[in-house]
Amino acid sequence: MLSYQHGFHAGNFADVHKHLILLELVEYLLRKDKPICYIDTHAGRGLYDLESVQAQKTEEFSQGIGRLWLRNDLSALLNTYRNLVDEINPGDRLTFYPGSPAILANCLRDQDKLILLELHPTEFSALQVNLRDPRIAIHQRDAWEGLQALTPPPIKRGLVLIDPSYEVKQDYSQLPKQVIAAAKKWSTATWAIWYPLLPAGKHEEMLKKFKESGLRKILRLELMVKPATGTLGMYGSGMLIINPTWNLCEDAGAIQDELVRLLEESPASGSQLTEWLVPE
Ligand code: SAM
Repeated sequence: MLSYQHGFHAGNFADVHKHLILLELVEYLLRKDKPICYIDTHAGRGLYDLESVQAQKTEEFSQGIGRLWLRNDLSALLNTYRNLVDEINPGDRLTFYPGSPAILANCLRDQDKLILLELHPTEFSALQVNLRDPRIAIHQRDAWEGLQALTPPPIKRGLVLIDPSYEVKQDYSQLPKQVIAAAKKWSTATWAIWYPLLPAGKHEEMLKKFKESGLRKILRLELMVKPATGTLGMYGSGMLIINPTWNLCEDAGAIQDELVRLLEESPASGSQLTEWLVPE
């Protein structure tokens, strides 16, 4: 039984990190006219109400999108991202936050396709209401089963976002197994995998599996908003990118430096890591 609801966390520092890297990848793919197939395996509800009881209970968004919302000194990429959030919030009030499906939907051209998988019945129903578009296919389906069944798609250029809730501990073992198999079948795609940085360090075992997978070109990006030691709860946000786009390879360090400055819990408490887990 799934109990995780992203509404408690929407727009937090990890969402900002994940969605910004996603936008950077999309920006590069859009430079060519050729069709793109996007797959978002853990889609969530697509659009979040930051005035909901869930969001107001944690107020996590105030330490994420809330920190950038009214700034006028952002880099071009952060500005694009902020403007995207701005478009769904008429006026100066930050009320809605777009999930990854809405961010990807916003970038769709006529020739592109977006496939969304979401298992939770309530989240799936909301997703159907929030994202209606003939270019978008929405499945109430297990991410791992769907990923194997749907890859490789007929459109060869693509981007896959893997963003589990890690509420079941099997996610840490299933993810590398399923993603490595699918990435070997669809080797022309770019794969973006999100993971939490928690004191227990469970992500390390997952990274080891990718390191030993035989896949090449895997970039490791981590944003720490506070020190790992003596911390309770999530201290950072990690992303593994298989086949990263050229612009991300060039810009990742600078993007993460900017995010550290904007999102660290207190001055000089944050840091970032940009390195190849597996080089070319
Ligand atoms: N990607 C979304 C975004 O960035 O806006 C957030 C997704 S949230 C972190 C994870 C989602 O995965 C939840 O909505 C949860 O219901 C869903 N989920 C959990 N296990 C799943 C599974 N096995 N298959 C499909 N969806 C699953």
